[in-house]
Amino acid sequence: MPELPEVEALAGYLRERTVGRRVDRVEVTAINALKTYDPDPSSVAGRAVVDARRHGKFLDVVLDGGLHLVVHLARAGWLHYREAFPSAAPLRPGKGPVALRVRLDDGSGFDLTEAGTQKKLAVYLVSDPAQVPGVAKLGPDALTADLATFTERLRSRRGQVKGVLTDQQVLAGVGNAYSDEILHAARLSPFALTDRLTDAQLVALHEATRQVLGDAVTRSVGQRAAELKGEKRAGLKVHARTGLPCPVCGDTVREVSFADSSLQYCPGCQTGGKPLADRRLSRLVR
Ligand SMILES: [Zn+2]
Repeated sequence: MPELPEVEALAGYLRERTVGRRVDRVEVTAINALKTYDPDPSSVAGRAVVDARRHGKFLDVVLDGGLHLVVHLARAGWLHYREAFPSAAPLRPGKGPVALRVRLDDGSGFDLTEAGTQKKLAVYLVSDPAQVPGVAKLGPDALTADLATFTERLRSRRGQVKGVLTDQQVLAGVGNAYSDEILHAARLSPFALTDRLTDAQLVALHEATRQVLGDAVTRSVGQRAAELKGEKRAGLKVHARTGLPCPVCGDTVREVSFADSSLQYCPGCQTGGKPLADRRLSRLVR
């Protein structure tokens, strides 16, 4: 799933290539992806792209006249910029991975695609990004929150730090992959309870959050959109690295599985060498 660094990079990428171009037309092929019906997507035609921004993990394509095309890429969504499209013929609804296509006046444009069968990509056409429920509820941005804000937000929600850190209402932008990386850098167990974190642990967590996200943004910005996913993978130390050695301490990276997700961590760095209980594995053993 694209998280803060990837969406930040996509916004920058799109800004460089599309600002000043006018929209020729918008083709909605996955009708369920479009969550708003007023204004009609056809009203976007003729408007110029004036900016591309990020709100948490949401991408916001700003059009003149105060319209915003706000996109949540969800788990399997992506944005593909095209210098040209192979055909001028409109896409047929319900065919292929393209959910929405934006054609610009110079023949370029971009596709929003979604792989897989779980269709969660969401697109909103609004006059104010705050009209998007997920945007309105976002907490402060995880990359820029200062220590006082960060501490206050983390302490506002009692729970396992992994869950609290990925709660977009607590802090905006962190998802499953970067929370694994941040907790590893902060040497904290993903199951540590937020109300038991010491001041020193919160300072370390804040520092790790800025460091991990900041480094990922630096690596990602300037990459071609198609290369972003590889760039993300290359920078990871524990996430999606189950069974491989931790680059910091050499211990084996382990995993805890849930119904539809998993987390990875290093026992050596994060849990005093002790593996965390994995309910799925303990069931198999029993
Ligand atoms: Zn380690």
